[in-house]
Amino acid sequence: MSQREVPTPTNFIRNIIDEDRAANKHDGRVHTRFPPEPNGYLHIGHAKSICLNFGVARDYGGLCNLRFDDTNPHKENVEYVEAIKADVRWLGFDWDERLFFASDYFEQLHDYAVQLIEKGKAYVCDLSAEQTREYRGTLTLPGRDSPYRSRTVAENLELFERMRNGEFPDGSRVLRARIDMASPNMNMRDPTIYRIRHGVIHHQTGKEWCIYPMYDFTHCLSDSIEGITHSLCTLEFEDHRPLYDWFLDELDVDCHPQQIEFSRLSLEYGVTSKRKLTRLVDEGYVYGWDDPRMPTVAGLRRRGYTPESIRDFCDRIGVTKADNVVEMGVLENCIRDDLNEHAPRAMAVLHPLKVVIENYPEQQVEELSASNHPKDEDLGRRILPFGRELYIEREDFREQAPNKFKRLVTGGEVRLRNAYVIRCDEVIKDEHGEIIELRCSYDPATLGANPEGRKIKGVIHWVSAAHAVEAEVRLYDRLFRHPNPDADKDTEFTEHLNQDSLHTLTHCLVEPSLRSARPGSRFQFERVGYFCADSKDSAETKLVFNRTVTLRDSWAKIERQQGRG
Ligand code: ATP
Ligand code: MG
Repeated sequence: MSQREVPTPTNFIRNIIDEDRAANKHDGRVHTRFPPEPNGYLHIGHAKSICLNFGVARDYGGLCNLRFDDTNPHKENVEYVEAIKADVRWLGFDWDERLFFASDYFEQLHDYAVQLIEKGKAYVCDLSAEQTREYRGTLTLPGRDSPYRSRTVAENLELFERMRNGEFPDGSRVLRARIDMASPNMNMRDPTIYRIRHGVIHHQTGKEWCIYPMYDFTHCLSDSIEGITHSLCTLEFEDHRPLYDWFLDELDVDCHPQQIEFSRLSLEYGVTSKRKLTRLVDEGYVYGWDDPRMPTVAGLRRRGYTPESIRDFCDRIGVTKADNVVEMGVLENCIRDDLNEHAPRAMAVLHPLKVVIENYPEQQVEELSASNHPKDEDLGRRILPFGRELYIEREDFREQAPNKFKRLVTGGEVRLRNAYVIRCDEVIKDEHGEIIELRCSYDPATLGANPEGRKIKGVIHWVSAAHAVEAEVRLYDRLFRHPNPDADKDTEFTEHLNQDSLHTLTHCLVEPSLRSARPGSRFQFERVGYFCADSKDSAETKLVFNRTVTLRDSWAKIERQQGRG
């Protein structure tokens, strides 16, 4: 990971770790893990967890494992495993040889379950799912003991063994922890720890098992087996912490990690739930997990985000227990700041309008030199061919305009970026009155010099007609119209989708140096925005650029228009 110039801001979790280290807890070790379930691609919320877990380990000289929490085989698959690994790596983090799967521990977990049975702390229960719910009670009503709760240890051991051997159908029996059916914490009311699942082929263990451990049982023990010291998770697990601790207290384990909860990140105008993101993909609302409109790591990458910008974002939002709904503008500012500093400049005309410079020699082509970055000479220079016919942006010309329109008007002058000052002498229209061409003249004395005796207010971008390369440009807008598509229980979140979230422009013209733009490479198209060559669809024979972000924060304006803030 690259050297950081700015120290990571501290947070309550780092304070806890500081105290633990001062008290020499776990011999001062810091060992974390990032534990995704491979049932979807990672999203921006996961990025927060990744930066936190790997970041803490890095800053304390500790370790962070990548562990797949793969106890729900029917929703998981290897595509997700590989995509998650690629995303974590791309974000700039490394688990070295510490790649684990909870399924690596199935045998050990089974033995721990047997230990619980032997202690009289777990029993096989034959209640149906519906009966179990009924016996469980409610938040205000205590639960009732299952009639199977008093089975003998011997009977439980035998039945659990037979569960494992595949003698019982799905749903007929479960193994439950024997805790307290009257506990005010519903999670402690004899939670299920093993269930029967026949016929699923687990992506790691194949057909070896027909019983699968539940998340709560698996998670704490996997943490313990790996010697995790601080098990960082999101707030919805706060009520599960007593159970996390109960298993580790009841069982004979060497390491008892501390679970610490922080708030989930939600991004305005997006959803951060794998279940919902899966629906967007499966129901065809987007073109895939890496659709540049998706708040997934793969989507953001394809959109043109850099790993640095996402890490910067995670630093800026911080880690707390408070609600963490973040404006889209915060994420956009991170990529804007990054690209402003690092992206080479280029010229691209999205809506071309032809310009003919009548006093420019017919066959002449000049090779003008332009700096790739106004502040960073290391990004080098490029050649811009200039000729008699050019294209400019349609919206950079008005026949008439108020004085504050600092672009080209009939009879007015403007500077062409990196080139000459031109004047518009005549406007050519088609039979519908549509402007199709501008007749202009240039001032040969204005290359890199101000004209004599007059001030030119505006600068516009352009491309040479004879040299420009055609490109497709994809303009992305927010995926949802509603800042919190999840909020309204009565409306499907998909109802809030923005039907105009993608605009594809097919006849854009870009400067010739972009012909060789590598897929995934990023640019500032001057005066237009930040773009990247699409990593899947762009090729030398057909350039495709995605708009990563506009030059300025358009969100603030949208919010104002909607009367928010
Ligand atoms: P989802 O609801 O999207 O399926 P999840 O919590 O079930 O999320 P996991 O794969 O289990 O997804 O998550 C792996 C880790 O990432 C967990 O430790 C989880 O707490 C954390 N995480 C998931 N979503 C967020 C989020 N929005 N903000 C911060 N951390 C998150
Ligand atoms: Mg989960």
